[in-house]
Amino acid sequence: MQAFSDLWASLQTWLFESAVAPLLFASGGSHLLEQAYDGVEWFMAGIVEIMLIASVGLLFERLLPAEKQSWLHNRQVSVDIFYTFIHRSGLFPLFVFVLLTPLFDSLEGMLRMQGIVRPSLEDLLPDTWRHPLFVFALYLLALDFVDYWIHRAQHRWNWWWALHSLHHSQRTMTVWSDNRNHLLDDFLRDAIMATAALLLGLPPSQFLWVVVLTRLMQSFQHGNLRVSMGWLGDRMFVAPWFHRIHHSIRDDVSNDARGHNFAVLFPMWDLVFKTADMRIRYEPTGIADQLEGRDYGDGFIAQQWRSLCRMVGLK
Ligand SMILES: [Zn+2]
Ligand SMILES: [Zn+2]
Repeated sequence: MQAFSDLWASLQTWLFESAVAPLLFASGGSHLLEQAYDGVEWFMAGIVEIMLIASVGLLFERLLPAEKQSWLHNRQVSVDIFYTFIHRSGLFPLFVFVLLTPLFDSLEGMLRMQGIVRPSLEDLLPDTWRHPLFVFALYLLALDFVDYWIHRAQHRWNWWWALHSLHHSQRTMTVWSDNRNHLLDDFLRDAIMATAALLLGLPPSQFLWVVVLTRLMQSFQHGNLRVSMGWLGDRMFVAPWFHRIHHSIRDDVSNDARGHNFAVLFPMWDLVFKTADMRIRYEPTGIADQLEGRDYGDGFIAQQWRSLCRMVGLK
């Protein structure tokens, strides 16, 4: 483990010193060096994720497919790969970071004025419970709870469903489908999650690993995979069949009261709030109105534009 983290840190330093820092000095952005150093780690993590999806993910889709697909010539899957690259290569997170930094600085300033230097979930625990792995799991659970309610809101409010429906419009789900989202939808979710992480006092170095773990699990859940983790495993972690039910074309999910399986990592939220459907099955995916001809757009630009039009009631 130590050898891995040493190798990881040296790679981060090498990339930073040989490519990023010279670029920043040349463009007059030397005041951003510290943030750029962190950015390099996000970039590296994203590249590892893409490599894992393209190797392990695709291998398992070949071995254990939920449905027959010929996605090599499917334009919709190519678009999903494009979405995955702009998200995981750090291009989109960079955009969010630039917009959110001033917001967070003022939020931290406000908290400090109230005498709260840095709230922390960890501080609430008795000393004997503060094992790093337990604390990490607790943060993961707390943030997943927030994610569950964001997802419920994405289905409940019409304007948000207009954006989130883009994610549901994929009829050929694969390990690349997780990032098919409207950029505004992603921005809202990232902003809420990062605020929650800040308020819970999650250390920034751990936030990266929470996000990486969440994203990898989400890629796995969207895979064309006939995989169950057993009775207990399927109740502990969201399996592909569980999330596939959420994407089922038979369910009209434009209202959260009619949808199922909103949990992002842990199905316990659906079990607790009675939105779980635990009957394992593999149904076609998409949105019911696609069968009546509604068009959610073919390429990236069309999909982004049509979502905005739906949001203001134009399409
Ligand atoms: Zn959804
Ligand atoms: Zn999904």
